[in-house]
Amino acid sequence: MTFQEGGNFDAGRVRRRGPGKGGVAVGGGIGGIAVVALILILNATGNPELANVVNQVAGGGGGGQQAESTLPACTAAEANSDRECRLEGTIESLDTYWAATVPTAFSQPGVLSFQKAVDTGCGSASSASGPFYCPPDKTIYLDVSFYDDLESQLGADDGPLAEEYVTAHEYGHHIQALTGVMDKADRQGTGADSDSVRTELQADCYAGLWVGAATETIDPDTGKPFLEPITQEQLQNALGAAAAVGDDHIQKQSGGGVNPDAFTHGTSAQRERWFTTGYEKGTLDACDTFAADTL
Ligand SMILES: [Zn+2]
Repeated sequence: MTFQEGGNFDAGRVRRRGPGKGGVAVGGGIGGIAVVALILILNATGNPELANVVNQVAGGGGGGQQAESTLPACTAAEANSDRECRLEGTIESLDTYWAATVPTAFSQPGVLSFQKAVDTGCGSASSASGPFYCPPDKTIYLDVSFYDDLESQLGADDGPLAEEYVTAHEYGHHIQALTGVMDKADRQGTGADSDSVRTELQADCYAGLWVGAATETIDPDTGKPFLEPITQEQLQNALGAAAAVGDDHIQKQSGGGVNPDAFTHGTSAQRERWFTTGYEKGTLDACDTFAADTL
């Protein structure tokens, strides 16, 4: 998927923070922590995405100063060639899509592109946690070097739509926070049928919704769609990314057997299926994973 010629994405929508000095700072109370990440790292076990962040909060020490700036404005050509510019363009398209889709609940999430480690409203996190959304500060945190890991460690082909899928998944968690899904779900539990898995699969479905609508989502600045029509190859690329972050795939990659009791995000097949459901059906109702008998 590529951005339409003529697109120009505003400076300031995405913040950027450089690497900290002197380690990561201690974050807020663990009791209130609620982090939803896309991915678990390879050496993690149990409920790793949460465990990682919690461990870092508990074990963190020292204070680091991180210089913060905002991304400059990006052209469509830059959004097609540069990861941070692609993030900025993708976020603007997501802003426009979701503002029209959930108009009464909508507000924009914060977006922070960081390197290596970051302090958040959910405590401190490192790039190893993968991209994540922090409900208390309503911000998406993403280190774009994650896409290299997606390719090198998890075997997904990197590509524009694979990256956009990741961003759109995290944005899906923001929508869940706005609409109350996040509050209702019991996200401490694990297992194939858990609320955690249903929450994650719904975010995949929301990503599919946006991709399905992206070529009809008009950039108010240009009057043209943000994105050119997507190709089958790009769609496969996004599905490959969804499959790469399936619990069963990650468990196998980390050298263990498949343990459904530890699932937090759903299997590769489920993640592909729910992304496709959103993409093909195009309605919020189609993404009600909490009502689904079969995930
Ligand atoms: Zn997620």
